[in-house]
Amino acid sequence: MDFELEEIDCPICEGSGGDPLHREGSFQMVRCPSCQFIFLNPRPTMGSLLHFYQQYLPEEEPSIESWKRMMEPVFHRAANLLKRYGREGRLLDVGTGFGFFPLEMKKRGWEVAGVEISQKAIDYARDVLGLTIFPGPLEKVALPDNDFDAVTGFYVVEHLSHPMVFLRECHRILKPGGLLLLRYPHTTPIKNLLQFLGIKNRLYDLPAHLSDFSPKMIQQCLERVGFEKCQHSIGGYTLPEDLGKRISSILFGSFAEIIFHLSGKKFLFSGVSKTVLAFKEERV
Ligand SMILES: [Zn+2]
Repeated sequence: MDFELEEIDCPICEGSGGDPLHREGSFQMVRCPSCQFIFLNPRPTMGSLLHFYQQYLPEEEPSIESWKRMMEPVFHRAANLLKRYGREGRLLDVGTGFGFFPLEMKKRGWEVAGVEISQKAIDYARDVLGLTIFPGPLEKVALPDNDFDAVTGFYVVEHLSHPMVFLRECHRILKPGGLLLLRYPHTTPIKNLLQFLGIKNRLYDLPAHLSDFSPKMIQQCLERVGFEKCQHSIGGYTLPEDLGKRISSILFGSFAEIIFHLSGKKFLFSGVSKTVLAFKEERV
């Protein structure tokens, strides 16, 4: 697919420039010299991306099923986190794909809705699963203020052109004391290691991923828009269909989880996906 590209300033601090970091094919990740944010530059225009996402998710029923199996352990862990730290009520899952996470939460007694940009995924979630889905992006849905007890986004934030706009919008639609749960990959440390070892790879998944957040960076962004009490965790691992990927996901995911717990929930193993919880402040 051909992409129309645009040069951008840092999506977090709006600083110009960017030091080349890693290249994948014709795409390049750069690091902002001011705030250290890692992002794709140049990147596809919004129009190119919307077109791209119409083909991003699988369409065939067996692939949809294997996607569901891949995400199940992560969804299960996230549901348990919400039960532990959140209060049951209204939940919005942004970038919901086929809607399997809101479906799970509906079974657990939550009132659920999703936001999605892929029309085929919207059709599936509405027609097959019977869910309420708003066509995205989130900021175009114009949901009311203080409307949800929880907002979730699994592997969403790294796909966004304007992550700060998204985080502000999540904050606005959450009720005071409401909880945001984000799941995101953290790829740069593994890229650095593989480059050192001379192993070629496409782990950034460019140009689908427009940025790569570290736990420190995501917390800074969350706090900047008004979230508090950030809690980081490893949050399980995915189960990809491909055997090699599945084994490495289980090995690294379990190892990271063990180290995290042995360190008293302090050490977040570099390179594996992570989950962060953040709370909207209670009104005084
Ligand atoms: Zn920056």
